[in-house]
Amino acid sequence: MKLRIFLPIILCLLLTACSGGNTEEYSYDFFAMDTFMSLTAYGKNAEKGVKAAAGRIAELTLMLSVTDENSELSAINRVGTAEVSGETAELIAFALDIADKTDGALDPTIYPVLRAWGFTAEENRVPAPEELSALLENVSHERVQVDRNTVTLGEGMMLDLGAVAKGYAGDEAERILRENGITSALINLGGNIQLVGTKPDGTDWRLGLKDPAGAGNVGVLTVSDCAVVTSGSYERCFTADDGTVYGHIIDPTSGYPADNGLLSATIIADEGRLCDALSTALFVMGKDRALDFWRENKSFDVILITDNAEVLITEGIADKFQLDSAHGNLTVKVID
Ligand code: ADP
Ligand code: MG
Repeated sequence: MKLRIFLPIILCLLLTACSGGNTEEYSYDFFAMDTFMSLTAYGKNAEKGVKAAAGRIAELTLMLSVTDENSELSAINRVGTAEVSGETAELIAFALDIADKTDGALDPTIYPVLRAWGFTAEENRVPAPEELSALLENVSHERVQVDRNTVTLGEGMMLDLGAVAKGYAGDEAERILRENGITSALINLGGNIQLVGTKPDGTDWRLGLKDPAGAGNVGVLTVSDCAVVTSGSYERCFTADDGTVYGHIIDPTSGYPADNGLLSATIIADEGRLCDALSTALFVMGKDRALDFWRENKSFDVILITDNAEVLITEGIADKFQLDSAHGNLTVKVID
């Protein structure tokens, strides 16, 4: 079986140049949370802020990794209960709350199934249907208890924060940059983008939204002061012997990778962890459920790209999106 991991560079910055003339700029590229990250800040404390934010992300990587046996998450998974830091307990409680609100489309207890597909190992494989149904018995966000700092799982269960950790790391990076007096910065955590303020010249950032079906960008988002997070199965996936492509986002109702007509789901909101959680959840839900969920909540914006060449974009962000001229085959529909 051939392993194919696409590095998740979903959104790329089109204009990085500092146009403020003599504004100080400091960039730092590094690898954390299993992906490439890049922090760029502007202004007097740019270097100090970026180094502090990168240090914080390194700490979170050690704390939240599901594969590092010294992480707090592994401590819970090893014996089914552990006392963890308030921060880890709070992030688990957040993931469980979104799991509840999305009727389990996001489920941080999906890990045993994800592992069976080999997504955290060297080799991917296609588990047998009976294996998946047995593993799904142990998937239920409702059977996780968080009591202050003590997290307890039901029998046979395991937790994974892969769907929210990068978003939370973005929030923490933003907090630290701001604490250091930074008012203009671009945080790119493997395609999860978090924007601090505007570009140093006061104009909005221009983000390319990658075409999940091919090369280039489907369009450009012109935004500031927000998080922009995309989930799609094209980024980390593998091709089985029969040619089927399987992605790393699992539908907890079936145990199979979500495959419902969506190529990507992008969420735009203030908070990175919310965007991250919802991009995964809405990708699992598929178009109709995702749009219903948006209509019931509306505290965020969404861009869905479907396999029948539609770009569905919610009204709050529609005028900030410009379709790429080479993607004229796509139909943009504004959702209200
Ligand atoms: P990425 O990490 O590539 O940016 P996501 O934020 O969508 O993408 O997270 C996908 C990760 O979340 C998977 O690698 C896995 O660790 C985990 N995961 C997969 N399916 C689910 C699910 N239904 N609910 C919660 N976590 C999931
Ligand atoms: Mg996510």
